[in-house]
Amino acid sequence: MSILEIHQIPVLSDNYVYLIEDKESGECAVVDPAVAEPVLDLLDARGMKLAYVLNTHHHGDHTGGNLALKAKTGCKIVGAGRDAARIPGIDIDVGEGDVFQLGHSQARVLEVPGHTSGHIAYWFKEARALFCGDTLFALGCGRLFEGSPAQMWASLSALRSLPGDTRVYCAHEYTQANARFALTVDPDNAALRARAHMVDQLRLKGKPTVPSTLAEECATNPFLRADDSDFCQALGMVQSDPVSVFAETRHRKDIF
Ligand code: ZN
Ligand code: FE
Repeated sequence: MSILEIHQIPVLSDNYVYLIEDKESGECAVVDPAVAEPVLDLLDARGMKLAYVLNTHHHGDHTGGNLALKAKTGCKIVGAGRDAARIPGIDIDVGEGDVFQLGHSQARVLEVPGHTSGHIAYWFKEARALFCGDTLFALGCGRLFEGSPAQMWASLSALRSLPGDTRVYCAHEYTQANARFALTVDPDNAALRARAHMVDQLRLKGKPTVPSTLAEECATNPFLRADDSDFCQALGMVQSDPVSVFAETRHRKDIF
């Protein structure tokens, strides 16, 4: 039984960086270090040594701390082999189905293109934790900078099929704004309304709304509901295929 300890570090205006430790071995990794300083500070404070950076995709607000962390700690940088040219300092290429070992904890790599062409997610099955970068957000999904709606729908469908008690460690605190949009496309969804209220309460207290669980996302996230009949009804698209429903939802969010 592996135990994964997860430290959530809020940085920049709305990013989350995750410092994770396999408790049995003491081996540590950091997911998507936008900046290096707060990570180094936490490593120092807790007497931890960084072994790996795990990148989900190439954007600067996910890789900005790579080179400084590597220079200061000697850690190895793990990222998508498909996107190796755009991941600063990459040492270890991974792709679909690869297993990444952090001490006694294991993560499966899932290729989830759409936000960027080389986006990946790290799924720690035993720890019930998913690090999904900017693919799936609490109540939202990433913008389609480098992919098609069909690609993103396939990526989100793959994430959606993981166990419902999986915690979703996404890379941004966008939930409150996402909830406001979600209510415009799915106004009669009782679970969504209740969740939006919870999110407001948490933000009032300055608390994070991340992680959520995959089960919560399946019930309330409009971008996971493009094949749900109630959702299609709410959107006035009962005859449409899921990719078209997803594309329309994404379009409405883009202009919201
Ligand atoms: Zn991004
Ligand atoms: Fe981002």
